[in-house]
Amino acid sequence: MELRISDKISKIAPSITLAIDAKLKQMIADGIKVYGFGAGEPDFDTPKYIRDAAIEAINKGFTRYTAAQGTVELRKAICGKLERDNGLTYNPNQIIVSSGAKHSLSNAFAAILNPGDEVIVPVPYWVSYTEIIKLNDGVPVLVPTKKENNFKMTKQELLNAVTPKSKAILINTPNNPTGSIYSEQELRDIAEVAVANNLYVISDEIYERLTYDGKKHISIASLGQEIKELTIVINGMSKAYAMTGWRLGYAAGNEKLIKAMSSVQSHAVSHPNSITQYASTTALNGPQDDVHKMVEQFAKRRTYMYDRLSAMKELKCIMPEGAFYVYVDISSYMGRELCGQTIKSSLDFAQILLEKGHVAVIPGAAFGTDSFIRLSYATSMETIEKGLDVFESFIRENLK
Ligand code: PMP
Ligand code: GLU
Repeated sequence: MELRISDKISKIAPSITLAIDAKLKQMIADGIKVYGFGAGEPDFDTPKYIRDAAIEAINKGFTRYTAAQGTVELRKAICGKLERDNGLTYNPNQIIVSSGAKHSLSNAFAAILNPGDEVIVPVPYWVSYTEIIKLNDGVPVLVPTKKENNFKMTKQELLNAVTPKSKAILINTPNNPTGSIYSEQELRDIAEVAVANNLYVISDEIYERLTYDGKKHISIASLGQEIKELTIVINGMSKAYAMTGWRLGYAAGNEKLIKAMSSVQSHAVSHPNSITQYASTTALNGPQDDVHKMVEQFAKRRTYMYDRLSAMKELKCIMPEGAFYVYVDISSYMGRELCGQTIKSSLDFAQILLEKGHVAVIPGAAFGTDSFIRLSYATSMETIEKGLDVFESFIRENLK
């Protein structure tokens, strides 16, 4: 029998970040010592008060269906967080919780896109944006950014990308993979274009808590009533609370949009896991000391990794201001031989490095810039030290 996959799905590539992570985990399971700088996943345990809350939820029978939009308690806790941290006032009807920020993004695009609608995406971009947009019948319009602007999209670059088919702009700050943070003025410029052209802004703020050197995260939605109406703020528990496997993301926006997202969700997964919702409520309402402690650790690892990579003279990297990645320009490696194979792309390089050097990194091709690789420092200092030793000597010995 001929298997016929839909045209839409045939055009989607599986997540490279998750594929490399799966390969790394398989190599470890096979007894191979591998150093993982691949998928961005905090190595810390979920803080104890959050784990305790989940156990309490199970024991008290909080194990049934919840409202599709999420529990009122959790949505109230999210309103409290948005007010406290971002100066944003929403009511619980303007919030929806989903199974991870990835799912929140998917619901958001499902709610706003008609076939052929364009979404403006600055490059480099996180691997899943383009595929989620395509899955929801949209067309990603890729806008290359410049290194001298720290890979942030300027007002002019944005204006050049706007067409009559434009529906939304995607902003990710702090950024994955570059770690750049948009300033208030840069966000005001984007907001001005969005308002003038009636474009939605999907603002992915999942790395908001992970900022360094006193840099501050600003939500574009907080810059005025008009831009707030057009913005869907996306955030979640994965990164700040080391809760990747729990799968809890959320979105805040105009009540009509949130209702539409809730309608999509009600038919797809009903709602995120009740136990995760209960624990996330405790996480957001509870003491935030654990988050601060994790950020302190990330800050130390960031400096160490950046210094080590910058000392390798053929590599160029920018100092990340937030998130937990260093984005490294490997263009000087292109066309050369590594272990006897010619490096023609970041995928070639990452593959040889993983298979022969036992170091996992993500190829820049996943983020739309093929002459880069991304290393995550969401892993222990020991792994970073030893892994970079292995990385450095592998390159020294095998790159011709
Ligand atoms: N946005 C960005 C920029 C990310 O890096 C990730 C990776 N986890 C997500 C969204 C999705 O996060 P999650 O689904 O785990 O909440
Ligand atoms: N967002 C993380 C990353 O970029 C986790 C993997 C994923 O969700 O794609 O590595």
